[in-house]
Amino acid sequence: MENQIPLTEIKGVGHVKEEAFDGLGIRSVRDLLYYLPRAYCDYSSESRISDLSEGIRAVVRLRFLSSAKVYYHGGMSIVSASAEEVSADHARVTVRWFNQPYRAAQVARGDERFVSGLFSDKRGKSFINPSLSDSLPGFVAEYSVCRGVTQRMIREAVRNALASPEMIPEEVFPLELRERYNLCSVGEALRFVHCPVTMDELNRGRRRITFENLLIYLLAVELQKEDRRRSNGIAFRTDGALEAYSERLPFCMTGAQQRVCSEIRDSMASPVPMNRLIQGDVGSGKTAVAAFALSVAIGNGMQAVMLAPTSILAKQHYETLRKTFGDCVCILTGNMKRAEREQTIRRLRSEEPCIAIGTHALLESDVVFGRLGLVITDEQHRFGVRQRARMEQKGIRPDVLVMSATPIPRTLSMLLYGDLDMSVIDEMPPGRKKIRTNFIVGSKRRDMYRYIADEVRNGMQTYVICPLIEPSETVDAPCVTEVFEELRKDYPEVHFGILHGRMSQEEKDDAMERFRSGETDVLVSTTVIEVGVHVENANILVVEGADRFGLAQLHQLRGRVGRGNRQAYCFLLTGNASEAAKQRLRILMESADGFEIAEKDLALRGPGDFLGTRQHGEGNEELFRAAASIDVIRDAKSAAEDVMCLPTEQNNRILSIAERQFASKTGDITMN
Ligand code: ADP
Ligand code: MG
Repeated sequence: MENQIPLTEIKGVGHVKEEAFDGLGIRSVRDLLYYLPRAYCDYSSESRISDLSEGIRAVVRLRFLSSAKVYYHGGMSIVSASAEEVSADHARVTVRWFNQPYRAAQVARGDERFVSGLFSDKRGKSFINPSLSDSLPGFVAEYSVCRGVTQRMIREAVRNALASPEMIPEEVFPLELRERYNLCSVGEALRFVHCPVTMDELNRGRRRITFENLLIYLLAVELQKEDRRRSNGIAFRTDGALEAYSERLPFCMTGAQQRVCSEIRDSMASPVPMNRLIQGDVGSGKTAVAAFALSVAIGNGMQAVMLAPTSILAKQHYETLRKTFGDCVCILTGNMKRAEREQTIRRLRSEEPCIAIGTHALLESDVVFGRLGLVITDEQHRFGVRQRARMEQKGIRPDVLVMSATPIPRTLSMLLYGDLDMSVIDEMPPGRKKIRTNFIVGSKRRDMYRYIADEVRNGMQTYVICPLIEPSETVDAPCVTEVFEELRKDYPEVHFGILHGRMSQEEKDDAMERFRSGETDVLVSTTVIEVGVHVENANILVVEGADRFGLAQLHQLRGRVGRGNRQAYCFLLTGNASEAAKQRLRILMESADGFEIAEKDLALRGPGDFLGTRQHGEGNEELFRAAASIDVIRDAKSAAEDVMCLPTEQNNRILSIAERQFASKTGDITMN
């Protein structure tokens, strides 16, 4: 990249510091300036000591009452000075610095300075390792640090770099674009994010940097899309395929399923490799749609793969698809016998058209395909991007279909799935009963569990979800182990099971299998319960500590029940959650539409929080955390469209940066 000015050009940075900065991935001046603060301390207005309490960061104007004294304790030096508040009630306070012996020379009796930093009330009122200044410090940036790098080191290096005009990276945005989207210059933005004087500056600086990151990312995705459009994949024959497939199905596809199938048909018929995402609520019938794509692949004498995140899910798909496709369906999971595995592998290696259903086991290097033409990934958010890319490489530009039950609002999906064509199944098969969703408060909790025990006697099953596995000292929320013990004691006649992420894969499969077979009546679990597994007898979902979960996640969990004929219920327990938290949960009672719920959740929480929780887990976290507002995402998208439509002279710089990023990050963004 341009602006690869070495760090040692910065005043005060030598080879020792240069090496230390390397630990943070900072290797050039540009890296340093784009190393953004993790938080800011607000030292923009003076506090009063009487308002402070243990652990608060604050700035106070102090008059030193004596010169500083230096003590040594163990190997440590302690500089200590007593002072009083200048304004207000002259409250007394001690200022202490640990291992900063030079501080002793910085304060003398009678000096008045702004003292900013951590306040402690433990051994008398004191400030610990504060900074000194002659004016209010404003907002002070705090960085993530590592061994050998201190906050001070970063702050100083940044300040010195910003003070040298030749170190500021060149502006990549044409002036016209900056004016249209109200963006400050790169120099201003970097000063604003590192050394903001006001909140307004900070916001403007952040907006510009976020915009820049997003725009470059979106352009890189666009370039990749263009690249794919130019490449040659398989043009499948699809005449009459949809009609033939529909006839074989035991039910009539919904309008949405038919529409999505025809979208798949058209992309499979085209020589451009398909790269399509199917989004659809839990139970909307994605499997039937995926099976259509499978039928096209084997109808063309090709092999196809369907990846599932767990072996239970793989087995379930295997059983369903065998009914439709018969013997040409085979399965490969991690826990298979050696001989069976060998046999399947031999089959895949041949050119025999077949459908392989499986887990990560399909990704192993000795699994080789003779004629792989289609790769489908179910519940895609459970698979890493790289894993999917590895699967694709087992064929020659196979068509790719990704299925997701996690509803993502449109604005965010263009970030997460910008390079995929999108199909949405927005209609449920007929006859689905609405799941009744209710709050359970206070003593009603007992009544609810009594009701569940009754339902168990009628042969029904229940999921109980808790936010934690074990009791936590820091988080006050229900946990699996305690709820399990409590219920087992209260209802000895009920068979309880337990399931959480700290169990081994085998134990988890086992627990899930026992619930599926009906051996377990009530499964107490964290959110690891299988996405996509059908247990028809399960008609109640209890969520303990419901306010701890995102709405999209709760909605997905709710999809675990209501697959049989009986009325299904979702009970939300909130303990002493705030009114705002309850208001948020009410959205779930009012809507059964995953997309609507996700949109509303996004509006309430903002994208950082929304994505931070769980919606994805791959690569671009930083980017999304930075995307503090939906507006900036929209603006960046619109700017990306402008740039792609009109690649003018002025846009060349930013396009070439995007191109380089595309080349270096292509592994991260393919197939997201
Ligand atoms: P998901 O989208 O959650 O993967 P599935 O594909 O597992 O949903 O479908 C859920 C259930 O609905 C399955 O039992 C399936 O057979 C059934 N189903 C799918 N489409 C239809 C339809 N059009 N009419 C009736 N039942 C359907
Ligand atoms: Mg499914």
